[in-house]
Amino acid sequence: MAIQAGRIRILKDVEPRRAGRYVLYLLQQANRAHNNPALEYAIEEANRLDLPVLACFGLLDGSNGFPEANARHYAFLLQGLADAAAGLGRRGVGFCLRKASPADLAIDLAGQAALLVLDRGYLAIQKRWYGEIVAAVAARIVQVEGDVAVPVEIVSGKHEYAARTLRPKLHRHLEDYVAPLTARRVKRRAGGEVPDSEVDVADPEAVLAGMSLDRTVGPVRRFTGGETEARRRLAAYLDGPFAHYGSDRNRPEAGAASHMSPYLHFGQISPVEIVLAVRAARTGGKEDRTAYVEEIVVRRELAMNHVHYTDGYDRYARAVPEWARKALAEHAGDPRPKTYTEAELAAGQTHDVYWNAAQAEMRETGYMHNHLRMYWGKKILEWSPSPEEGFARTLRLNNRYFLDGRDPNSFTNVAWVYGLHDRPWARRKIFGTVRYQSENSLRKFDAKAYLRTVEELCRAERG
Ligand SMILES: Cc1cc2nc3c(=O)[nH]c(=O)nc-3n(C[C@H](O)[C@H](O)[C@H](O)COP(=O)(O)OP(=O)(O)OC[C@H]3O[C@@H](n4cnc5c(N)ncnc54)[C@H](O)[C@@H]3O)c2cc1C
Repeated sequence: MAIQAGRIRILKDVEPRRAGRYVLYLLQQANRAHNNPALEYAIEEANRLDLPVLACFGLLDGSNGFPEANARHYAFLLQGLADAAAGLGRRGVGFCLRKASPADLAIDLAGQAALLVLDRGYLAIQKRWYGEIVAAVAARIVQVEGDVAVPVEIVSGKHEYAARTLRPKLHRHLEDYVAPLTARRVKRRAGGEVPDSEVDVADPEAVLAGMSLDRTVGPVRRFTGGETEARRRLAAYLDGPFAHYGSDRNRPEAGAASHMSPYLHFGQISPVEIVLAVRAARTGGKEDRTAYVEEIVVRRELAMNHVHYTDGYDRYARAVPEWARKALAEHAGDPRPKTYTEAELAAGQTHDVYWNAAQAEMRETGYMHNHLRMYWGKKILEWSPSPEEGFARTLRLNNRYFLDGRDPNSFTNVAWVYGLHDRPWARRKIFGTVRYQSENSLRKFDAKAYLRTVEELCRAERG
């Protein structure tokens, strides 16, 4: 199946260089060797030019580290890169990893490339790298958008108001884009032209040990990175828990969630591959499939739309809609029955045992169920001295502890707590007309069973 033209953007429209030694692919968002449209595009071009493909990855280290990334995130990333490099090698694609910014590495290696292929992310830092690359590389540059079902600008040319405005636009294109991607056979296998890697990517623990980074938040045992593990988990999920996703997805203790978010965040699995697998699953009915596609396509790509079209998506004043900021400002002086410091929140030292358990799951294991993330975020708003401070704290905690943090979904969902993509509700203290979530929402599931689950998870983390 051809790669859909809507995924492909020519960023520098010059002929491929005749003297090029390889087609260069900067692996950055889509860290996988399969179901990766940018990689398949690079292979097609290399086959046409009778050249090998060289994939490269720039690892940010020390003071040059990726914003807010710590040892937990890097451990998962490096496990994924080890797996991707092995998969690329089996396919005959070369791989080179250097401690450099992705833009600097691509600019350096593009000197000998016939053309450069990029994948696509939507965060400000990624957009900055693309700009630096386009400004400095003289060769042809093509970007292939493969970490969404439907390319963001095909869905909509503007910031969408809510899921209900995005949904019909997305569904109009979905069937054109949710299609299997066959692995192209590499004609010229990479060999002598592959530059040495600075570190041995096959040994993620050693690479991590040699990096200068924030180690106050450590790796977790609960999740191992990589596309092999992502696919194993997906298959196990579709064989069992998926069958009650429709009915139980809002019950954290029921085990109906897929835990795909860390793998999606690090580009270790394709959302299209997941949707196709969900559709083909032997378990589950129409309700399960519809509910899952709504989350992974509509909700997830609403987040991409928000981040792509919002300058300053990480700032309260830009990310939160005006009506909600006004409503919260009107109630900023309301007495807060309880307030906690950020350190108390991080340590899970509040009066609310369920909130503390959710915080423990996040802090110790890097994950929390969606239903509890909503409760967790709304309570931070309630217990913080001001909405601005609440927003900043929530984002910091979210991005520090979640494996899937620092994602478009992180910025968008934290802003959702403060009214983004929502509508005004009945007025009440502290929240104004922004949606409130009370302790009653804990009665909708077996909260005591959730406490026991978290205890077990934390025990397993400690080993
Ligand atoms: C305050 C708050 C903070 C959040 N922070 C993050 C974050 O940092 N990173 C992150 O990826 N998600 C975040 N979410 C969204 C959501 O909670 C997670 O994506 C989901 O819980 C991941 O678990 P799962 O893969 O088991 O989900 P499943 O229920 O199995 O869903 C499958 C996939 O659908 C997507 N999805 C599910 N729920 C949502 C949602 N509400 N919005 C957007 N996409 C969704 C995710 O890609 C998810 O992997 C946050 C939500 C809230 C309310």
